[in-house]
Amino acid sequence: MSLESLYQEIILDHYKHPRNFGEVPGCAAAAEHENPLCGDQMRVAFRLEDERIAEIKFSGKGCAISQASASMMTEAVRGCTLAAAREKVTDFLAMMRGEREFAALDETGELEALKGVLQFPVRVKCATLAWNCLAHCLDAAGKDGS
Ligand code: ZN
Repeated sequence: MSLESLYQEIILDHYKHPRNFGEVPGCAAAAEHENPLCGDQMRVAFRLEDERIAEIKFSGKGCAISQASASMMTEAVRGCTLAAAREKVTDFLAMMRGEREFAALDETGELEALKGVLQFPVRVKCATLAWNCLAHCLDAAGKDGS
């Protein structure tokens, strides 16, 4: 199997079997964004426990890349402190601008599958949609805390 088709497999798997899809009752923060270029709609919400993201979910609809990226994002930041999650968002967005190498942002290394999207600039917004929602959630949660 080529690396490219392996990446496609990972993206399709997350698209067909999204992790952490749904709503978070009593969430600490939630944000919704759209990507009109592609018609993707995204909502991300999380709940904090001991200053960590205890539960994070996404909902919405859209293309395989937007949904798969959201699914991977929830896996990557669940259990993180707000500061650690913020760091992952910054790193991911920098990678999607081609400013740095894809490093292991998550234990599974699956996010690297999104690297292929860089070849299609118009799809980058699909991949970053959920992460921009998360960034807004982190802003909102940061304001409420301390
Ligand atoms: Zn899309």
